[in-house]
Amino acid sequence: MILYGKQVAEKLSEEIIDEVKTLKDKGIEPKLAIVRVGRNEGDLSYERGAVKRAERLGIKVEVFELEEGIKTEDLIECIEKINNDNLIHGLLLFRPLPKHIDENRVKNYINANKDVDCINPINVAKIMEGDKTGFAPCTPAAVLEILKHYSIDLRGKNVVVVGRSMVVGKPLSMLLLSEDATVTICHSKTQNLKEITKKADILIVAIGCAKYINKEYVSDSTVVIDVGINVDNVGNLCGDVDFEDVKDLVSDITPVPGGVGAVTNTVLFKNLIKACKFQME
Ligand code: NAP
Repeated sequence: MILYGKQVAEKLSEEIIDEVKTLKDKGIEPKLAIVRVGRNEGDLSYERGAVKRAERLGIKVEVFELEEGIKTEDLIECIEKINNDNLIHGLLLFRPLPKHIDENRVKNYINANKDVDCINPINVAKIMEGDKTGFAPCTPAAVLEILKHYSIDLRGKNVVVVGRSMVVGKPLSMLLLSEDATVTICHSKTQNLKEITKKADILIVAIGCAKYINKEYVSDSTVVIDVGINVDNVGNLCGDVDFEDVKDLVSDITPVPGGVGAVTNTVLFKNLIKACKFQME
């Protein structure tokens, strides 16, 4: 089965639209701030998708576009302005930031109650602790939403995550653990990767290498979730998995585009609704 992200995003959107209506009835207009430093094409593309999705959901978005050369202090000042604005409920900061900016300092300044993409270490720690009162980062949370939508049970399953970044692999592994999966984390130094991935009930790949995972890495019972977003050698978007090579062999697989990426920005707004509720308390 092809696990399309669109159906998942549509279902989540319906729920969010109802929540937005309830909030508006109480006089709250959900609003997200997007902070973008520079004009990275990937960031701009994500921003366009988020703005479009927000319009459909009845949510306001304000983009804070900052110059590539901005100083750490000035970025922090912008974040604090958003923290203190009661009409803004969530803040998304695009990362990685330019190298001259002290990202480790900046992330501490994002108000933990507005931190809809789980950047502040307080929320990262909550993911480690299995404490659901914080915000799960959007991409890992999108993976879980897809598995839930297609009724793919995690309890006791052998889940292999390839990739250990702080954006995807590590927090995702912790979220899977909280769902009682047995999690193996692999990375670029892992030996015998194929032997490990072949034994997975669910294989989740987030490595940033176009079409790296082929049929030698999977079995006929593997559920494959491809988080990768890459451009292949003819300029088309593709995942970290060679979709054409494995699709007829595996049990289920997400496509790229149209898989995890199609759900991520909807999860962002699900988190924004949670942030609105925090701020009502
Ligand atoms: P990243 O920070 O570059 O991390 C890549 C991870 O993969 C690292 O842990 C690295 O291992 C591991 N790795 C690289 N090559 C490997 C190999 N040949 N075998 C095993 N492990 C390998 O990337 P990221 O930010 O996590 O992103 C991963 C992918 O997901 C990218 O394609 C990105 O575009 C995509 N992405 C998609 C979404 C979405 O919404 N769908 C969101 C974010 C990212 P080491 O730690 O040993 O270096």
